[in-house]
Amino acid sequence: SKPIVAIVGRPNVGKSTFFNKIAGKRISIVEDKPGVTRDRIYTDVEWLNRHFTLIDTGGIEPNSKDVIISQMRRQAEIAIETAHVIVFMVDGKEGITTADEEIASMLRKTNKPIIFVVNKVDTNNLPDTFYDFYTLGMGEPIPISSVNGLNLGDLLDEIISKF
Ligand code: GDP
Ligand code: MG
Repeated sequence: SKPIVAIVGRPNVGKSTFFNKIAGKRISIVEDKPGVTRDRIYTDVEWLNRHFTLIDTGGIEPNSKDVIISQMRRQAEIAIETAHVIVFMVDGKEGITTADEEIASMLRKTNKPIIFVVNKVDTNNLPDTFYDFYTLGMGEPIPISSVNGLNLGDLLDEIISKF
C-alpha cells in the first residue's frame, strides 16, 4: 500500500491550504480561525510517478485554548504513529510560537523522516523570522507558499525522496 505523509503543525499555519493546493481541489476547510479542519482528511497524490496518501490534521474548532493545545498534541501523536513521513509546518509570518516548540519536542522523539517547512513565504525574499526556525532543531527548513505555490515542487521532491 501507499506511503502515508501527514501534515503536522499548530493551528493556522496553513496545513489545509497546503493540502488543498496539492489535492488540486478544495477538500479541507480553510479558515482564518485556528483549528478548523474536520477530523483527518486524506487525498491520493502522484508526483513523478510516485504515489502517496497525504493527510491533513487538525480538529473541529475547539472553543478554548487548552482544548486547542490538547487536540493539537493528540493529532500530532496520531500522525507520528501512522505516517511514514511527517511534514512539520510552521508560519513564516508569525515566527516561532510555544506551540511550535511543543510539537517540535514531540517530533524529536520519533525516528520517522520529518520534513520541516516554513509556510507563508509568499515572495522569494526570506522573512526575518526564517533563521529563528533553525533553533527548533528540526534541520534546514524549506520555505514554501501554499497560497501562490512557491517551492511546492521542491517540497514534493523531498517527500518522495523519503520513501
Ligand atoms: P491550518 O489551521 O493549519 O489548516 O491553516 P489554514 O489552511 O486554515 O490557513 C490559515 C490561514 O492562513 C488562512 O487565512 C489561509 O488563507 C492563510 N494561509 C495559508 N497558507 C498561506 C500562505 O502560503 N501565505 C499566506 N499569506 N497565507 C496563507
Ligand atoms: Mg486546517
